[in-house]
Formats: sequence, structure tokens, C-alpha cells
Amino acid sequence: MSARTPTPWFLDRRDGRDSNAIEILAILDGECFCIAQVITEGSSELAADDRANAEFIVRACNAYDDALGVLRKVMKEHEDDAENLPGDPGCIECTAGTVPNSHNTGLCAYHGARDLIRRVEGK
Ligand SMILES: [Zn+2]
Repeated sequence: MSARTPTPWFLDRRDGRDSNAIEILAILDGECFCIAQVITEGSSELAADDRANAEFIVRACNAYDDALGVLRKVMKEHEDDAENLPGDPGCIECTAGTVPNSHNTGLCAYHGARDLIRRVEGK
């Protein structure tokens, strides 16, 4: 199974000025290499948008592991006993027990964290 490149990632300082690509870089085993490129073409306005997208990718990816850690901590701190009761009685906080947890869309911190973890992990 393939694994993604560990963070932190960062933007190439050349910033698309020497080419039509903004490179997203990482250091692995002491070597810097390009892991992705954001192609920038067209007007300077589009190039600014491309740079904003590249910066967003780097920020989001660099925060990914920490964000998942916080979400798991939220889940642990809000571990709902109802989650483990027989018959799936639903979450009192989200739906006052009117909706089974298997259909819960995540209004409370616990279920919001659970659903967000599923989304970011692609599950
Ligand atoms: Zn809930």
C-alpha cells in the first residue's frame, strides 16, 4: 500500500516565476523534492488564484495530522455511552434519541468529529 509523503510540505520559493508551475515540496531522507505542482497560466489574476490554491493545499495538508488528532481527542472526551448501548438508541444531545446513531448527521461535538474524521479519511 502506498503512503503519502510526510508533512511539512512547503512552496517552492521560485513561486512559478521561473516556470508555469508552483511546486509543492517536501523533505524526505534529507532531500528536498517536488511532490506536486500547481500549474499557473493566464493572467496575473489567475496566477494569484493559483498561488492561493497552492498555499491552501500546503496549509491544509500540514494541518491534517494535527486536525485529526484534535478530532479524535474530542471524540474521546465526548465518548457517548449511547453509542455502545444495544439497539442503537441514538444520541441524546444530537437528536434527543429520536434518530439512530447509524443515521446521525453529527450535530454534537462527538458525532460532528466522527463524521468529519470519516470525510477527511475518505471513508
Ligand atoms: Zn451526537
